[in-house]
Amino acid sequence: MDLGITGKRALVLGASRGLGKAIAQSLAAEGATVFAAARSRDKIASWAEGMANVHPVALDLAQVDEVDAVIDTLLADGGVDILINNGGGPPPGTAEGAERGQWIGHFEAMAANLFHLTTRLLPAMKKRSWGRIVSITSSGVEQPIPNLALSNGIRSAVVGWSKSLANEVAGDGVTVNVVMPGRIHTERVDELDAAAAKRTGKEVSEVASTSRAGIPAGRYGQPEEFADVVTFLASDRAGYVTGSKIRIDGGSIKSV
Ligand code: NAD
Repeated sequence: MDLGITGKRALVLGASRGLGKAIAQSLAAEGATVFAAARSRDKIASWAEGMANVHPVALDLAQVDEVDAVIDTLLADGGVDILINNGGGPPPGTAEGAERGQWIGHFEAMAANLFHLTTRLLPAMKKRSWGRIVSITSSGVEQPIPNLALSNGIRSAVVGWSKSLANEVAGDGVTVNVVMPGRIHTERVDELDAAAAKRTGKEVSEVASTSRAGIPAGRYGQPEEFADVVTFLASDRAGYVTGSKIRIDGGSIKSV
C-alpha cells in the first residue's frame, strides 16, 4: 500500500528515543522529510546518522520561547504537513499528593505548549487542504492507571482538545487523532519496571512478567508496531479517520 506521504514534511516531538524515535524512523522510511525534535539534538543525530531525510532539532517542550523559535523556523519554509505531538511522561504519584505547581508545570509541557504549537502550524495545513495531527497519550485516559494521577489528568485534557479541534478542521482536509499506548517496550517501560522492582523488593523480571500476564496479547508491544499505526494515521490513506482515539495496547483495556 502506498501511503502517499513521500515528500511530506513531518515534525515529530519527543523523538530522541522510544515511541517518538520509532515514529520518526517509520515516517522517514515512507519518504517523508522528518524534523525530529527533543531536548538533546545529539541523541537524535546519533540514531539519524546517514538518514538524509531526518533533521534533528533541539527543543524543550517546557520552554515556550524554544517552541516558538522552532515553529518560526519551520513556518519560514511553509510549516509541516504532519505533526506528531509526543513528549515525556510526568512522574508517578497520587491525585491526593499532587501539588498545584506540579499540575501547572506538567500541563505546560504536556498540553498547553502542544496546543500552542499546533495552533501555529494549522493555518499552513489548512491553506494546503491537507494535514495530519496525531497526539500520543496513554491507555490511562480510558482506564486511569493507579499512581499516575498527573498523567491520567493531563492526558485527558489532550483528548478533549484533540476532539474539539478535529471537529473544527475536518472540512479543511486536516485530521486530528489521539493514540493510546498500553505497554510498549521502550526504555521508559524498562525504567518503570526497574522502579517498581525497587519499590516492591522484587526482581525486575518478576515485575515484567506480572505486567505481561495482565495483557491479553501476553507481551509488551514493539515500538515499530506502534509507529506503524501512527504512520498510517499520518498518511494520505487515512483521510477519513478523524476525531478518533485509537488503542494500541494488546487488548489491555478491559472495556469495549
Ligand atoms: P520515553 O520517555 O522513552 O521518551 C520520551 C521522549 O520525549 C524522549 O525523546 C524524551 O527526550 C522526550 N522529552 C521528554 N521531555 C521533553 C521535553 N520537555 N521536551 C522535549 N522532549 C522531551 O517515553 P516513550 O515510552 O517513548 O513514550 C512516549 C510518551 O508516551 C510518553 O509521554 C509516555 O509517558 C507515553 N506513554 C508511553 C507508554 C509506553 O508503553 N511506552 C505507555 C503510556 C504512555
